[in-house]
Amino acid sequence: MRNTSRREILKQGLLLTGGATLCQEGFSAPATPCEDQGTSPKVFNIEPLSDVDKKYLKRAIEIAEMGTQPESGSNYPYGALIRFENGDTFEAWNTVAKHGDPTRHAEMTLLTKVFNQGMDWQRDRGRLKKATIYASAEPCFMCAGAIFWSGIGRVVYGISAAQLDEIYKEYFPDTEHSQIPASAMGSLAAVGIDINGPHLIEQSSEIMHHNIRSQLGKDNPFKK
Ligand SMILES: [Zn+2]
Repeated sequence: MRNTSRREILKQGLLLTGGATLCQEGFSAPATPCEDQGTSPKVFNIEPLSDVDKKYLKRAIEIAEMGTQPESGSNYPYGALIRFENGDTFEAWNTVAKHGDPTRHAEMTLLTKVFNQGMDWQRDRGRLKKATIYASAEPCFMCAGAIFWSGIGRVVYGISAAQLDEIYKEYFPDTEHSQIPASAMGSLAAVGIDINGPHLIEQSSEIMHHNIRSQLGKDNPFKK
């Protein structure tokens, strides 16, 4: 495959599978108007993470990295985890590359797993409301919609969509990016879902850099 087309595929894949968000008329949350967001990360909660939150967010970042391994399908570096109040957890990574399905973001795959393994959105409404989703990157509109419809009460995330876009720009400076300034998380916050992020930015950024570099074959930190 020629290098240019490889870059193009990677670029499209990353932009389509990341936390990039779209600002559409009527879809931006009142609390986070499009014109105010720019490229700065939107901070929803600046309280330091508890040890429990930190542990599970770190795990979501680890999961993201695991999904990029060849034996996992060389997927894009996004991971998610849900933790219920009783300590039960489910984990998933992005499987877009493996399945060629752009809806297989980590959060979507995670929720499919939750509902395919015994959870019922109506019967278990109370449990879902008290559950937390940890995502290595800010969930996109598709995943935010799924989180809303699933009745999940809380989201903690790593790198923000704006920060993701800054990373893409480093590698693909000529591209118009899809970080269109609005926040899916703003929409969730506006309906009362507890949104907490961005957090562990250094760790969650690092896997993005590693993955892009290794895919582009330049300055690959995993190369000996
Ligand atoms: Zn998504």
